[in-house]
Amino acid sequence: MGMRFEIVTIFPGFFASIFENGIVRRALAEGLVEVSIHDLRAFTHDRHRTVDDRPFGGGEGMVLKAQPIAEALESLGVRAKQERAASTRTLDVDIATQAHIKDGAPGEGEAPGVVGGSRPTVILLSAQGRPLTQGLARELAQSERVVLVCGRYEGVDERINELYCDMELSIGDYVLSGGELAAAVVIDATMRLIPGVLGNEASGEFESFGAADAEIETDVEGVPRSQHGAGGLLDYPHYTRPAEFGGLKVPEVLLNGDHLQIRRWRREQQLKKTLKNRPDLLEKAALSREDEKLLEAIRQQL
Ligand code: SAM
Repeated sequence: MGMRFEIVTIFPGFFASIFENGIVRRALAEGLVEVSIHDLRAFTHDRHRTVDDRPFGGGEGMVLKAQPIAEALESLGVRAKQERAASTRTLDVDIATQAHIKDGAPGEGEAPGVVGGSRPTVILLSAQGRPLTQGLARELAQSERVVLVCGRYEGVDERINELYCDMELSIGDYVLSGGELAAAVVIDATMRLIPGVLGNEASGEFESFGAADAEIETDVEGVPRSQHGAGGLLDYPHYTRPAEFGGLKVPEVLLNGDHLQIRRWRREQQLKKTLKNRPDLLEKAALSREDEKLLEAIRQQL
């Protein structure tokens, strides 16, 4: 069974076209990923299917009510954190008792966040959340189930965060009108890191924010690799035919078939682009001594 994403939203129709194209569509068709969408209004109990209310303390806008979201999450088998903690304690006691009776070590028991399944990671999409990075997407790709709660209006009653969510997640320092786009971004960035989703296994490694050379095993036998692992840098520029477009020629080095030269040129470009657009990344990047020299030379050219 593939990795499962569950989305709680007041706009279930929003996702129709998003999952019908490209790699996501293929991953869904091949069962590597499953997505289910849950309409928050289905968990209301009044005639108007009310999901929002005015904020305590006054102020602009409306707030998504806690009750429908809590019910939606409970329907997915997600329990409130206190209950999870309590039942973890009960489970510990049970396991200890069983271990005593059987006189054996307890196995890896499933954390009991969910009824009848492994515990999902519950994420509240929020501009106030921790930032989504490639590293976090890699971590999420290890989960079996991820539940994404999409806010709207002024946001979600904070008690949902406190009671049910493992993390608040932001896709950037700007404010969207709803969590749906953010949920789609999280799913896209995560699912392409699941083994088997990308056609070429290595392409998830040789791209912006990717792993360092030392962590990459992929190599074509007898042919030197023409790419370095990004090691936290941005990707290098890509070109395809024709060799000349708009008066601009493809860099000569890419046409000569010398993989070592190509590799060196691409590394230089990665360093240049990172220095220009995201100098902050250089502080944490895995740079070799040769990288440092190249970077110094680039800085002197500026
Ligand atoms: N009052 C909130 C604030 O100032 O942080 C903004 C609420 S926003 C208009 C409505 C919803 O959009 C949020 O509850 C959240 O789910 C989603 N959202 C907005 N910006 C986001 C971001 N950068 N990343 C993830 N979700 C975001």
